[in-house]
Amino acid sequence: MRMKVLASRDFPGPAWAELDDVELLSGPLPDSLGGERTDVEALAVVAEVVDERTLDRLPKLRVVANYGVGYDDIDVAACAARGVAVTNTPGVLDAATADLAFALVLAVRRRIVEADAFVRSGSWASGWAHPQLLGDEVSGATLGIVGLGRIGRAVARRARAFEMRVLYSRRNRLAPAEERELEVEYRPLDDLLAEADVVSLHVPLTEETHGLIDARRLGLMRPGACLVNTARGQVVDEPALVEALVAGRLRAGLDVFVHEPEVPSELLALPNVVLTPHIGSATAATREAMTRVLVDNLLAARDARELPNRVYP
Ligand code: NAP
Repeated sequence: MRMKVLASRDFPGPAWAELDDVELLSGPLPDSLGGERTDVEALAVVAEVVDERTLDRLPKLRVVANYGVGYDDIDVAACAARGVAVTNTPGVLDAATADLAFALVLAVRRRIVEADAFVRSGSWASGWAHPQLLGDEVSGATLGIVGLGRIGRAVARRARAFEMRVLYSRRNRLAPAEERELEVEYRPLDDLLAEADVVSLHVPLTEETHGLIDARRLGLMRPGACLVNTARGQVVDEPALVEALVAGRLRAGLDVFVHEPEVPSELLALPNVVLTPHIGSATAATREAMTRVLVDNLLAARDARELPNRVYP
């Protein structure tokens, strides 16, 4: 059985070669399709908008396989209405993304990027000095995790090793036994924001989470508290966050932004912000593992087997 896959790119790792009929997209969807394509049965995409206009031109499409766990660029309701399955790559990127979230916590609280720039610029003239680049403890601080799913749990496990107190918020509270095992305490979101020294976001981007951390909620955070976002830029009211950061009221570690690759220009000169370019899953091992999962979903679609990571419907 053969199945024509249109792909955003050649994905890394040996699994990618297991597909027998791949064509690379020449540009963004839907314009790069030209007219209607009746030969295409699958899309393999990353950070690619898949909407009605694309679906209209691909009448034989059976599956949209997303490279990544967050599939907010894909109009899943439109796919479902046409019987097109959507799959993602959950689980294999939990460790890498949680590691990055923790790297941002450490970088912001201990001013690592600022300290590095200080040394490189030749400004370090005094040897050991107090209070040169004084930071804040990570150990013993209170971490608030918003969205305690796969990645949020991986962050909670790392926080334990740093002897942090861990609060969490999500729609469905965990069973007491699981809270005990993870050593986490439930808080309604507003209470968590008011109590945490560090808030780390791990919710998916949905209609409900769009703007979840708005200006009012940013205002609940403690002065000097740190917001870490490795989820999606749109979960936060970005202009309101910029305002709080420019005022020096909050600190932040940000891997995601509303209009990537654009970053609000006000942030570029701020010492209280650490910026990374959406690299949550960016390790060689994780990216290869994501390709494995992506290809497993595509092979299952090709062979008309159950899709391992069908997200909707
Ligand atoms: P997950 O396992 O589905 O966990 C999501 C968590 O969010 C769940 O605990 C869920 O609990 C909670 N949640 C969902 N809607 C909520 C709401 N309206 N209010 C409060 N909590 C809510 O997802 P995951 O695999 O951990 O991934 C999380 C997200 O991380 C992805 O969707 C993706 O956008 C992002 N991500 C980014 C990178 C990067 O490169 N920066 C890499 C990987 C993933 P309830 O259902 O009980 O609310």
